[in-house]
Amino acid sequence: MSSGWEQSSTARVISPARPRKLAKVPFVELADGRLQGVVSSGSDIGRVYVSSVAAGQFAFACSTNNNRPCGGARGGFCNHIRALIGEAVLQYGAERVARYLRAETDSGQGPDAHAIEAAMAATRPSQADSTAAAAVFNRFLRHLAYLELDAATAPLPEMQWFPPTRAVA
Ligand SMILES: [Zn+2]
Repeated sequence: MSSGWEQSSTARVISPARPRKLAKVPFVELADGRLQGVVSSGSDIGRVYVSSVAAGQFAFACSTNNNRPCGGARGGFCNHIRALIGEAVLQYGAERVARYLRAETDSGQGPDAHAIEAAMAATRPSQADSTAAAAVFNRFLRHLAYLELDAATAPLPEMQWFPPTRAVA
């Protein structure tokens, strides 16, 4: 069965699930009415950013795991939020991301990460407060517990930010 599918689709099929760059964006999800996730710092291996964009109004937030505001997210999307959008598109597909966020991209062609970002930025969204960050980071920690990691014996830099909590069952 699969051979016929392969033969008839060699020219048109796009790889359905491109591997995501977990090192860059270790966590991305569409949840709580937001696109939200965790993005590694481009320059500092010991830092991650918790980034989110709200569906509908596109209010955005970005701060470090230590709750410091992201310097790049003043007045517009920072690189972390752009990375988050890109990874969400890889993870969920552009149409689903656009639909979830209610981002109205130019019709005609299907949306892509750039079109989604541009559509949201064009509305000049406001900056959200960072109250969501703690919830997002907690979801990330829970998500890590379910991840199958190839290098299970290597220390995870993310683990250093686990709060000293006994919530882990
Ligand atoms: Zn940022």
